[in-house]
Amino acid sequence: MKPVLSLSAILLMSISAAAGEFTVGFGETDITPELGKKTVFLAGFGHNRKATEVHDPIMVRAVVMADGDDKIALVTVDVVGLFLETVQAIRDELPGFKYVLVSATHNHEGPDTMGLWGATPFTSGVDPEYMKKLIAGCVNAVKAADKNRQPAVVDVGRARDPDLLHDSRLPIVKHDELVILHFRAPRTGQSRGMLVQWNNHPEALDSKNTQITADFPYYVVKYLRQSHQCPVAYFTGTVGGLMTTLGLPVKDKDGQELADGTFAKADRYGFLVAQLAEKALKNAVRITLTPFDIRTREILIPVENKNFQLGFQIGVLKRKMYVWDGNPVPAKWLETKDIKQPVAVKTEVGYLKLGDLEVAAIPGEIYPENVLGQVQDPVDPGADFPDAPIEPAIYAQLKSPHRMLIGLANDELGYFIPKRQWDVKEPFCYGLKKAQYGEINSVGPEAAPVICNTFKQLVEKK
Ligand SMILES: [Zn+2]
Repeated sequence: MKPVLSLSAILLMSISAAAGEFTVGFGETDITPELGKKTVFLAGFGHNRKATEVHDPIMVRAVVMADGDDKIALVTVDVVGLFLETVQAIRDELPGFKYVLVSATHNHEGPDTMGLWGATPFTSGVDPEYMKKLIAGCVNAVKAADKNRQPAVVDVGRARDPDLLHDSRLPIVKHDELVILHFRAPRTGQSRGMLVQWNNHPEALDSKNTQITADFPYYVVKYLRQSHQCPVAYFTGTVGGLMTTLGLPVKDKDGQELADGTFAKADRYGFLVAQLAEKALKNAVRITLTPFDIRTREILIPVENKNFQLGFQIGVLKRKMYVWDGNPVPAKWLETKDIKQPVAVKTEVGYLKLGDLEVAAIPGEIYPENVLGQVQDPVDPGADFPDAPIEPAIYAQLKSPHRMLIGLANDELGYFIPKRQWDVKEPFCYGLKKAQYGEINSVGPEAAPVICNTFKQLVEKK
């Protein structure tokens, strides 16, 4: 016999469902640049690298989660990096969302979306028309994901493998934890979608490639999709320090080592990351992602890098500069173009507490040392700022065992280097004859302290 529910019981159920039911949806848009009309400059390595063909598509992938009517969107784009201004333009088109996060995978084999990789150092590689397509693509992916929302439960899994990372800068510190969120239908357990987060530079195709590709994340998504028949969104995390596939030994099925700059290596590496994700799925545990507690703060970060200052001044890098008076949250936000005075750029740091899951949203490429609490100590005598205090580590602020870091989140300001590992002046650390690579792509030595302290304050609600 069927149980009979009274009208008031039915009403009560529908009201409580609307107020707090967790739903999730996935959406995606193809934003591959058109070839043959304008030059498409490939980002990530030298100037004037022109795309000649398309190997696989450049995609936007969006995950929309809702707690009743409270909606947030997490968006990932297969490009090198996006400035906060671009993210604001996307957010402006998405009213009704409590929060929209847009992160780039940091793909080094896609179109220039920042300006650094044009024909010469003095010309931007960005096509403004393409940026419009990218913004519309992000908006459409979020709207599609929103429409696709269905009730879901979520499992979180993690797995580690240091052998899937090459750290090309001393000291060797790797953030080798992959995190996966597996959204499933509440009754059947059927997969609704997956969010994978891993920490490496998508640059397996290296600096000579001229085919547009999403690099290894294309293959991570492809293999997970094949085995689970559901949408998959790949997010980039901690990539400073610096995490790369270049120089990493990757072998094919028969034990042959695969060369850098080949699709065979990108494919195999993507397969291995997907395998690590499968391992993470096996130990996944049920968590809840509600309620959403979203804390963000707009701050200034001082720009001491002369190339970046010049880029902002002449417009190769399109963003505003502000007067830096030593305060990340100034009383007045004063715009300036005068680089004889200390200058800064505006960015955003985020801390998201989604039920049992804590997420750090970091606007650039943070060093694993600053995430895991492994900043060089004692300091190397060659360091430029040996007295710099150790920044509060990102993960030391988090209490939940379930955590994740999204890098290049809502901005890309390059490397955030522990200040006491900053090293451009002789003598160099570790007895090296020349400076290590990194500082040239950082706004300056104050970036990591400002980011880490802001994150700590957000967690502490200060
Ligand atoms: Zn990078």
